Amino acid sequence: MARYIEPVCKLCRREGEKLFLKGERCYTSKCAFERRSYGPGQHGQAGQGRNRRMSDYSRQLRAKQKARSIYGVLEKQFRRYYSIAIKTRGITGLIMLQILEARLDNVVYRMGFAANRAQARQMVNHGHFIVNGRKTDIPSMVMKAGDTIQVREESKKNGLFKDLAEQAEKTNCALWLERDLKTLSGRVLRMPERGEIDGNLNEQLIVEYYSR
Ligand code: SF4
Repeated sequence: MARYIEPVCKLCRREGEKLFLKGERCYTSKCAFERRSYGPGQHGQAGQGRNRRMSDYSRQLRAKQKARSIYGVLEKQFRRYYSIAIKTRGITGLIMLQILEARLDNVVYRMGFAANRAQARQMVNHGHFIVNGRKTDIPSMVMKAGDTIQVREESKKNGLFKDLAEQAEKTNCALWLERDLKTLSGRVLRMPERGEIDGNLNEQLIVEYYSR
């Protein structure tokens, strides 16, 4: 499965803001953006693209790239979500964000079972989760209200999951989800409302980008 493999901190520096892609490290002085808040690459320090007045196209492009970076989704898949959203009744931008939020890797992360989305994706990839009673290893699987997930019994013996409940306890579970830390399981209660989707995203600009 294709995925983004460059250092993710570069993505924050490129967007000119912290995207919190690494979990705890993002809140420490080790954060690359805290140390170098200019863009990556040879011309990054000159404030390339950041201080310059941006065209409409650039703003749309950056809004789209930022969302892609946050959710770790490649362009082809991201465009596919747009295609689904325009065919679905409702507000296209919001539907797109709801699809991104409902991805299995994001749900695992939002339940607090992983420190960041990249880790959640890896945990799913390695087959540690059961969705609606069946083992799955597809991070992009889109969940819906009523769907359940749980950590596989075999995986609970794995070192990664030994102190998972303790770690998860330090995090909040999203309000549109519920979790049970004793059984390391959870359920999707409903789709998230716009106010429950953080990350300072501008879905309107994303829709404008794809509808050009
Ligand atoms: Fe971004 Fe986190 Fe890296 Fe800081 S540590 S640059 S917030 S991914």
